[in-house]
Amino acid sequence: MSGHSIVSSPANDAKVFADRLERARQSMRAQGVDVALLSLGLDMPYLTGYNAMPLERLTMLVLPAHGDATIVVPGLEAPRVTLMPGVFTLLPWSETEDPVAITARLVKESTPETRVVAVGDQMWARFLVDLMPMLSATQYRRSVDVIGSLRMRKDQAEIDALRAAGAAVDRIAGELQAGRIPLVGRTEAQVSADLSARILAEGHDVVNFAIVAAGENAASPHHHPGSRVIQKNEIVLCDFGGTMNGYCSDITRCVFTGDIASDVAEAYAVLFEAEAAAVKAATIGTPCEEVDAVARRIIAAAGFGDYFIHRTGHGIGLDAHEDPYIVSGNFLPLEAGHAFSIEPGIYLPGKWGMRLEDIVVATTHGPDSMNHADHNLIAVDA
Ligand code: ZN
Ligand code: ZN
Ligand code: ZN
Repeated sequence: MSGHSIVSSPANDAKVFADRLERARQSMRAQGVDVALLSLGLDMPYLTGYNAMPLERLTMLVLPAHGDATIVVPGLEAPRVTLMPGVFTLLPWSETEDPVAITARLVKESTPETRVVAVGDQMWARFLVDLMPMLSATQYRRSVDVIGSLRMRKDQAEIDALRAAGAAVDRIAGELQAGRIPLVGRTEAQVSADLSARILAEGHDVVNFAIVAAGENAASPHHHPGSRVIQKNEIVLCDFGGTMNGYCSDITRCVFTGDIASDVAEAYAVLFEAEAAAVKAATIGTPCEEVDAVARRIIAAAGFGDYFIHRTGHGIGLDAHEDPYIVSGNFLPLEAGHAFSIEPGIYLPGKWGMRLEDIVVATTHGPDSMNHADHNLIAVDA
């Protein structure tokens, strides 16, 4: 989970991160946030290149709206941090010091008496519980409100990284569709392990998930691959992805082990149309909820509305799931550099399920898909 490098060549790392930190400060000032406290989660690596291990020992980026950034880090972890003089200061703490007190001191030194503190979603609760009594007259907000909009707008290096990760899982999907990944007679778990090995072999640093769901199991969108043996003449849903150079891939394709049943083929044609229409609708200025609605209207018009039981997509980048969410109620208009999944599905309980997923980036030239594997439901002899 830890230690992914963040995209950008070492030569310009310092400039990339200095720019991101400055934009974060601007966003904080615009929103009246005095200091951001970022611990676990991917805001700290986005801003500094350092990804803390999920330890009980505190690591914290203290970022004042007016002032220099400091990473408070356990002394034994300090050697893992790539130093960037002028970008942030490293403040290692020893085993007998109280890192929460150190954090509180930095906050007090850099902010007014009455202050607004933005904290990352993934900071351990224990740190916040200890910190709150040390800081009086303090209001807390979520850091996603100030950092999320920056992370949403991917720069060219980030889009290139998403594209490389997407091409890697496309190649695996291609093998699946070509019948070169054995299915019938193997368990879902075995096929999942096979996909996971291929995700790593294709250059990812970690596997994030490899869902394999056969037949009726595919009706559960996040099915955990288990001991069910894949049979002839059923649908096999594969949803898999990993992290490569810090950025995530995520693709879903379904194959059919035999002659495709007519009810499945009819539903798949609807899904295919819905997915393609939603991708096409993902243009700059279109509200996220409208992209969701485009897919939903097509599926509902075909009578499957009650069987499309999740949002159409999620943002993707350093995190496998991040803003913007492609969901009803999200009025946010797409901007250039927003990256997200389009993944409608149809799930008939007890019978079968199907989903089709691509990662798409909104650009000034229109929606740019990171995935190009065949979108059809392919009958495989595997
Ligand atoms: Zn999912
Ligand atoms: Zn997926
Ligand atoms: Zn997804």
